[in-house]
Amino acid sequence: MVQARRPLIAGNWKMNGLTGDGLALASALAERAKASEGAPFDMLICPPFTLIAKVGEAVAGSPIARGGQDCHSEEKGAHTGDISAAMLADLGCRYVIVGHSERRADHHETDADVRAKAGAAFDAGLSAIICIGETEAERDAGRTLDVVRGQLAGSLPEAAAAANTVIAYEPIWAIGTGRTPTLDDVEDVHGVIRGELAGRLGENEAAQLRILYGGSVKPDNARELFALEDVDGGLVGGASLKAESFWSIAESCL
Ligand code: PEP
Repeated sequence: MVQARRPLIAGNWKMNGLTGDGLALASALAERAKASEGAPFDMLICPPFTLIAKVGEAVAGSPIARGGQDCHSEEKGAHTGDISAAMLADLGCRYVIVGHSERRADHHETDADVRAKAGAAFDAGLSAIICIGETEAERDAGRTLDVVRGQLAGSLPEAAAAANTVIAYEPIWAIGTGRTPTLDDVEDVHGVIRGELAGRLGENEAAQLRILYGGSVKPDNARELFALEDVDGGLVGGASLKAESFWSIAESCL
């Protein structure tokens, strides 16, 4: 029997947060999480690397997991400034985001790079949150499904499974813009992703793998997005920087 997918509410802080505000945010979320024991969702925060250890102290004793925002594809070596998946695991992370559109754009990361990073995450015992999504021009040209299929095929390692992989569908034009696709569009794309996963991993595995929606998720649109059949939570940027809005998004799963 296929188990129900447990929603994952993931916050990507990006390059935001110094010790004071980062710890205040993490502590406020930890307090809420402790007071809501048994809540039917998983919560993850991905602070900048500099705060991962301190945030770990702030969320200790709460069910909030931590993740990195990127990792190198090698375990160690001569890569000045880079962080390996093993280093994230060493800090207590359980997840790492790979292939975020800002990494793909700013650092010219290809699907092959993303796939290698996801494989490195698995080797370090982390779950990879693999981000895919189309640009506005691709959407306008009617290419959304082709783009998403191609990115998925190129970015998913052989060893991907429901236990070590989360897919985040993030239309690039929706990130940080306050714009979102229609619910029908989100449902269509997520359904196609689930279908592609079934082709790669088999129906049963695909039915258990979480697919998040990301792109301007806010407290006032989270409930309708998360109610869609193939949406298993969200990857949240801007709205994850305030405890109240991030928690309110998470509560949309209740
Ligand atoms: C993101 O960058 O992953 C994201 C979804 O950002 P925002 O929620 O701010 O659109």
